[in-house]
Amino acid sequence: MEEKVLKNFINGEWIEVNEQTAVYNPATGEEIVHVPLSGKEEVDRAVEAAKLAQKEWALVPAPQRAEVLYRVGTLMKEKKEYLSKLLTMENGKVLEEARGEVQEGIDMAYYMAGEGRRLFGQTTPAELRDKFAMSQRAPIGVVGIITPWNFPIAIATWKSFPAIVAGNAVIWKPATETPIMAYELAKIFEEAGLPKGVINVVFGSGNTVGDAMVYHDDIRVISFTGSNDVGREIAAACGKQLKKVSLEMGGKNAVIVMDDADLDLAVEGIIWSAFGTSGQRCTACSRVIVHESVKEELEGRLLEAMQDLKIGDGLKDGIRVGPIINQAGLEKIERYIEIGKEEGAKLLAGGNVLAGGDFDKGYYFAPTLFTDATSTMRIAQEEIFGPVVSLIPVKTFEEAIEVNNSVTYGLSSSIFTRDVNRVFKAQRDLDTGIVYVNAGTTGAEIHLPFGGTKGTGNGHRDSGVQALDVFTEWKAVYVDF
Ligand code: GLU
Repeated sequence: MEEKVLKNFINGEWIEVNEQTAVYNPATGEEIVHVPLSGKEEVDRAVEAAKLAQKEWALVPAPQRAEVLYRVGTLMKEKKEYLSKLLTMENGKVLEEARGEVQEGIDMAYYMAGEGRRLFGQTTPAELRDKFAMSQRAPIGVVGIITPWNFPIAIATWKSFPAIVAGNAVIWKPATETPIMAYELAKIFEEAGLPKGVINVVFGSGNTVGDAMVYHDDIRVISFTGSNDVGREIAAACGKQLKKVSLEMGGKNAVIVMDDADLDLAVEGIIWSAFGTSGQRCTACSRVIVHESVKEELEGRLLEAMQDLKIGDGLKDGIRVGPIINQAGLEKIERYIEIGKEEGAKLLAGGNVLAGGDFDKGYYFAPTLFTDATSTMRIAQEEIFGPVVSLIPVKTFEEAIEVNNSVTYGLSSSIFTRDVNRVFKAQRDLDTGIVYVNAGTTGAEIHLPFGGTKGTGNGHRDSGVQALDVFTEWKAVYVDF
């Protein structure tokens, strides 16, 4: 990447902003680029452009709108390695995971392009004679998307692709920690021939750009993924304005390991979903609810597997756990370690910031395992967003389900068992938007709805055909003849 100063992308033009902030590689502490800190004026300008562009874009037949997404998918495919390396550099996740994330974006492009040939409505028999009744999806207009740093390209595609294929124009505020993926995706949209003004990228902080979007009268939907506190504020503001809002605000996800589980599989699932992306996933496994009869064996196997987790710069070969996004993230994790100890959980491994040598340049935290936690402890209730997992022993299947559901979040859950009856009961009774059987809590695919219950969100979903519900209105049409 040649650019050292990123620009906003508004109405098809690249616009420099005077106020900027630096972005650092979390693995090395090196400065990578400068990102604009835009204000309300940039948002206003983007919305004006988007309003004009949307009127025309909505008239383009949906299969033709989809053509642009096919081209976007193909360009992403061609640039996959380039994008993946930049993603690792700005976010820290190891290269293999970065490739997986970019692939999610590619899959989403083709999947949503396919929806452009469907966007199904319904016809239904009318009550009266000589009357025709049908429903159809109509675009909403100008939509706002606010995306997080932990999946800077995948989550952007989950939101922007359905919005665009449905005939909306988009104002997008990416996280300032990871602006490069947004910059690259905007360049891809440009190259793919998306008409100017249909997507507008405005970089800046939540307090300025985010607020300006949330309170802008002409932005009719906000789709947000991020922290619970911010999501609730956005929901309150949107509620007062009767603005549609879609929220995904994290999880406190658990893997349940029953007495009949395949422990090899369970260990693999836990390691991957607890320590992948250094635990900085909304879907990360941060609780293991284990049947007491296999607790000791599971602890031993997890400790053994954790020894193989090579930590470091994710661009280097063999590294399995990358850095934490920044100093604030590191400090939050440290606070939870202290809380866990004070609450009486037993620390079996990790629990410390890594120091010395290359570790001093970046933000590294040791993969951490607590055991003998109880479901009411704060480390078993609150989202830590780091490589920390707590084992909670239980006596029965019913107790496992109860503990799983005892948190205020409801994103992802998993059960390892060989008993088919337990599988069906678990998928019914686990109060989360996503349930895995004999796999960890992460790795959701883009053609199914992504999101959750309770504090995780407000019922709307990212990705899957259900994402279209966020970005369209149902219109009922009656024709008398
Ligand atoms: N795609 C990710 C997964 O299922 C989750 C994205 C997120 O953490 O927000 O693991």
